[in-house]
Amino acid sequence: MRDQDQADVVILGGGHNGLTCAFYLARAGLKVTVLERRGVVGGAAVTEEFHPGFRNSTASYTVSLLNPKIIADMDLAGRGLRVVERKVGNFLPLDDSSYLLAGEGRTQAEAAKFSARDAERLPAYERRLEAVADVLRALILTTPPNVVEGGWAAVIPEMLKAASVGRRMAGLDTTARRDLLDLFTKSAGDWLDGWFESDPVKALFGFDSVVGNYASPYTPGSAYVLLHHIFGEVNGKRGVWGHAIGGMGAITQPWRPPAPNRAWTFAWTARWPRF
Ligand SMILES: Cc1cc2nc3c(=O)[nH]c(=O)nc-3n(C[C@H](O)[C@H](O)[C@H](O)COP(=O)(O)OP(=O)(O)OC[C@H]3O[C@@H](n4cnc5c(N)ncnc54)[C@H](O)[C@@H]3O)c2cc1C
Repeated sequence: MRDQDQADVVILGGGHNGLTCAFYLARAGLKVTVLERRGVVGGAAVTEEFHPGFRNSTASYTVSLLNPKIIADMDLAGRGLRVVERKVGNFLPLDDSSYLLAGEGRTQAEAAKFSARDAERLPAYERRLEAVADVLRALILTTPPNVVEGGWAAVIPEMLKAASVGRRMAGLDTTARRDLLDLFTKSAGDWLDGWFESDPVKALFGFDSVVGNYASPYTPGSAYVLLHHIFGEVNGKRGVWGHAIGGMGAITQPWRPPAPNRAWTFAWTARWPRF
């Protein structure tokens, strides 16, 4: 009999999200099968040989959004995951002599090379993004209200849960509420044009809105991706990004078959499902 015929839950895709779901479902006592079409699990979080003898992260490459609760629950540190902090964020070579090198403690001075006004506005820009990121941080581990399942008795507590999320928004001042709406709807380009005048400075942040996103910085909604770049953390330091020693596969390979943790009923099979 095939693994998925016996499973309580079948997860299609063994990327880091599929693997994390499998872990929590298995920990809750369910028998889980992850179906992964590739010969390696991890999705975009993989380390692969790109040339004989050379291995590297082949898609996603830097860590910040991996929630510390997941790292702790999965005991990823105990399984060898070590993340080193990046001292430098992005490097933008512009021509033979000028560049913009962003990183903790240096971005403002770098921005000043191109615009004194932009450098002066930078702390306020970061503060305002942080205020909205705090709202997301507080919600990230909250199960969204489910008002579509069950009768009224089930729906009422869910409505109360929705109201408590609403109260959190109501606690924001007018500027933060407007920023939240803008960041969820506007393009990064429109948001950044409102803040800065210098193209290199806008490019520095605009890159964050399109990396891994395959969209123009002027695509509506891309402003939200700017938030993604600040609401994570590494080694307990908020907003910091890091590199996993051994590449991104170091995050996902602890779950690589054929040696799943025996404590769970976690199984894996490489099969392309047909619908
Ligand atoms: C180029 C690029 C760079 C990125 N860089 C970063 C970064 O540095 N840091 C960061 O935090 N995020 C980065 N991201 C975003 C991040 O990679 C994704 O958010 C993340 O991979 C999503 O994980 P996932 O498990 O949902 O999906 P995926 O990682 O996409 O995994 C999906 C899995 O499902 C499998 N699959 C799909 N269809 C089927 C099927 N029908 N049957 C069986 N298996 C199937 C795929 O083979 C894959 O293994 C980047 C994204 C891209 C594209």
